Amino acid sequence: MPESIPALAAREQRLACPVAARCGGCQLTRMTYHQQLAHKQALVEELLAPYCPVSPILGMERPFHYRNKVHAALGVDKRGLPLSGVYAAGTHRIVPVKRCLIEDERASRIIQTIVELLPAFKLRVYNEYTGRGFLRHVLVRTGWRTGEILVVLVASSLEFPGKRAFVAELKRRHPEITSLVLNQNDRHTSMVLGKRETVLFGPGYLEDVLCGKRFRISPQSFYQVNAQQAEVLYRTAIAMAGLTGEETVLDAYCGTGTIGLCAADHIRRLIGVELNPDAVRDARENAARNGVANAEFLCEDAGRFMTRLARQRQTPDVVIMDPPRAGSDLPFLRSLIALAPAKVVYVSCNPETLARDLAVLCEGGYRAVQAVPVDMFPWTEHVETVVLLSKGEVDSKKIRVEFSLEDMDMSEFQDGATYPQIKEYVLEHTGLKVSNLYISQIKRKCGLEVGKNYNLPKSEDSRQPQCPPEKEKAIREAFKYFGMI
Ligand code: SAH
Repeated sequence: MPESIPALAAREQRLACPVAARCGGCQLTRMTYHQQLAHKQALVEELLAPYCPVSPILGMERPFHYRNKVHAALGVDKRGLPLSGVYAAGTHRIVPVKRCLIEDERASRIIQTIVELLPAFKLRVYNEYTGRGFLRHVLVRTGWRTGEILVVLVASSLEFPGKRAFVAELKRRHPEITSLVLNQNDRHTSMVLGKRETVLFGPGYLEDVLCGKRFRISPQSFYQVNAQQAEVLYRTAIAMAGLTGEETVLDAYCGTGTIGLCAADHIRRLIGVELNPDAVRDARENAARNGVANAEFLCEDAGRFMTRLARQRQTPDVVIMDPPRAGSDLPFLRSLIALAPAKVVYVSCNPETLARDLAVLCEGGYRAVQAVPVDMFPWTEHVETVVLLSKGEVDSKKIRVEFSLEDMDMSEFQDGATYPQIKEYVLEHTGLKVSNLYISQIKRKCGLEVGKNYNLPKSEDSRQPQCPPEKEKAIREAFKYFGMI
């Protein structure tokens, strides 16, 4: 068993899910978590064997309730009463699910409430065959650090009969909902969300914190479904890029800009490219709200964009690419080879298309140096992998030392934001300068983990200056902003 798997994961029991067989969402429920990690490790090793060594998979300590995006399909039971669940694999038959072991529990409860409220408010479930009825799906997205909750009601129409009373009751039962959106989907389609929407309350989007940066996520934008592991994934990808602060980095398939923006403090310039206009709007907004001034985002097909860069011979120093499951395409890969940036970090959610694309890149003169699998989707067959590719001869020993995962200090990020990020926030919002000592004192007061470098003596008589109340207030505000308390 790879050594990096947390001891707790190894002891984890099975997923005792009563609907596993009929739901089909989790494919590995017959294995313990420990066995799953070994299975995924072996799979990645097998596919990537021709290209590079594979590090031990980074698993979760508690692999439950990690899904921050919960989608419920609505239907009716034999008596005509509404129920929610998932479509049985490959069908439009609903398997009722009340409690899912991988989904965020707050989301499950909200969905149950909505289903219960429907009859009282005379709201009918949409019938796909007759096209009659109102509510089709409910989508809930939750913020891991912020605790914010965005609920999207997907209905056949934006005319919502009895809207006010329904919304008031939902709010009363779930004051934790921070925004409610009504989305219209009247098409005969397997897409969950339609194009038109109206905000019923709140900002109409969700905010969450990753690597100390705050991100806005619209209902339609991509956001990693396991935010806790997304942080591990991003740290790994950024560490593997071995950034010095001088680089121009291209974040291709950037979504809301999360990976690039998490790296923005360590580079000279960031360019993001993404096809979904909502995500690009979010990415620009995310750069602005995090005070990132060295980033720009373009809404374009990544392959076309790369082809243009190649024609103009504009070579970024590092390309981070995170394509969807289908992988990248030949125009992108060929232009990448033509541009020949020194390093490419390929983040992939599908090891099969990853291996296919690695073949093209290696044929074009790249060398895959190392792969690190990350378990973003416990209990499912999916596995995420980060691969570092490099141009020309590389001293593999040197590179291995450079991003030795054991040496990567992730402790700073485990609590949401780094000391410099907190200092900057406090300075910007209050004009006050606070020291590491003060931050660590308040962290301890709040019961937060204090990084190893800041574990200062606790004894009463050690003559440490104590954080004044005014600064304590400012530091606590920063903790709140970063979702740490
Ligand atoms: N790196 C981001 C998003 C990864 S998901 C994150 O970690 O959150 C893949 C993204 O690729 C999605 O946002 C999707 O909209 C985008 N995408 C899909 N096809 C694309 C294409 N041809 N060109 C550019 N972006 C594309």
